[in-house]
Formats: sequence, structure tokens, C-alpha cells
Amino acid sequence: MQKQLLVLTFLMVCTGFATAQKMSSRDSLAATLEVWVNVPVVTPGVNNAEAPSDATILYNGNGLGAFQKRDGSPAGWKIDADGAITDIKGAGDLITKEAFGSCQLHIEFREPAEVKSSGQGRGNSGVYIMGKYEIQVLDSYNNPTYSNGQAGAVYKQHVPLVNASRKPGEWQSYDIIFTAPLFKENGDLESPARVTIIHNGVLIQNNVTILGPTDWIRKPKYVKHASKLPLMLQDHGDDGNPISYRNIWIRNL
Ligand code: MG
Repeated sequence: MQKQLLVLTFLMVCTGFATAQKMSSRDSLAATLEVWVNVPVVTPGVNNAEAPSDATILYNGNGLGAFQKRDGSPAGWKIDADGAITDIKGAGDLITKEAFGSCQLHIEFREPAEVKSSGQGRGNSGVYIMGKYEIQVLDSYNNPTYSNGQAGAVYKQHVPLVNASRKPGEWQSYDIIFTAPLFKENGDLESPARVTIIHNGVLIQNNVTILGPTDWIRKPKYVKHASKLPLMLQDHGDDGNPISYRNIWIRNL
């Protein structure tokens, strides 16, 4: 009886040892798939619209110092009493002093409460990433126009998946994730730009491939450019377009 007990104990110890061995070899196999790198810690804003700690603030109500005109002179848009910046007809595009490549951009815009025009004439502006790739800004609330030119379109290239526009006069947002194009030494395209856009919390462009700089009359065609270029906000230059912006921040990727 005592001998049987001894054998049983021995077997139990062996089984336990084998299980431990098995576990440890499984653990080490699993560990081969683990990646340990230093992931920077970023403090997010208290809501998704607030800039995280590593963002470059382009505008948060404290003046237009991050922007200039095309000729390098001070930006000509006006700052409203509520802290928004509003386009003045003919004031020229707003161009960042700093250049950006692949990025995450948050921007809020408000279409004029008073509707003055229609189609492309109604609240037309644009977020030109790298100054070349336009994400259309337009009052697309009950405002028919060509689909690849409505709000959230990659202009004349990609129709938004849905129309998530709010009413004129209400604040809206774009959250844009942009991958810059890469060029070979000889100027050939290595990989095209891509973009994902969330409009008012709704996915409207899902990692679409940009075919080249956006243009209203020419087909897109890539021409080698710098890896970082200024961001541009369009002054469409006509009557129905006193577009306003606020809370603009960008993170280099
Ligand atoms: Mg536009």
C-alpha cells in the first residue's frame, strides 16, 4: 500500500514537472511573437476634439501666428468674437508656416448660417494637405452638386462613403489621417498618398489612394515634391463662402 502511494506521488510530481515544462516552452514560443519597444506616452485631450499633448496647435483662438499668405505676409482672415477664424472674400488662402508630411489632422469648420448660393458656390473652402491634396469643405446639407466635389470628397477623385454634413451654421469636424506619397530619386512615384477621413464622427473615406494633386480641370498626375509641405486652407474667393474654422491641430506621423 505504502509502495503504491509512493509510485502515485512520483507520477504526480512527474506530470506536474512535464506540464510546467510544456507551459514554459509554450510561453517562450508565445514570447517570440511579442514586440517590446518604447511607445511614447501621450496625454489625450478630455474629449476627442481636444489636442493631445504631442500635437502642433495651428489654431485654438490665440491668433493666426501659425499661418501666413502665399507671399509670406500676415494671414488676412478675421478672428470673430467667438474665437473662430472666418474667411474674408479675397483675403487669400491660409498657409501654415510649418511644413507637414504624413499626419493626423483635426479641424473644425462652420458653414455660413445664411445660405447665399448653391452647389460649389455654397460655403466652399478646402483643406489642402501638403497644399496639394484637397479634402473638400462645402455646405453639403441639402445642396446637390457633383458627388466627388461634395463635403468630404477627395476633390474630383473620391466620393465620400456617406454625407455626414450638419446644417449650415453648426460646427462640424474632420479628423484626417494622411499618408504622404513617396518618390524615387529619379522622380518616379514609389507609393501614392492615402487618406482616411472621419466627418462629424462618421467614416467617410477609408484609406483611399490619392491619384495625384487634386485639380478642378486637369486629371491628377504626381510630380515629385518635398516630403513635407505647408497645409493650406482655401479662400474660394466668392460671395457665398465666409467659411469659419476653429480648433485646428496636427500630429506628425
Ligand atoms: Mg474647395
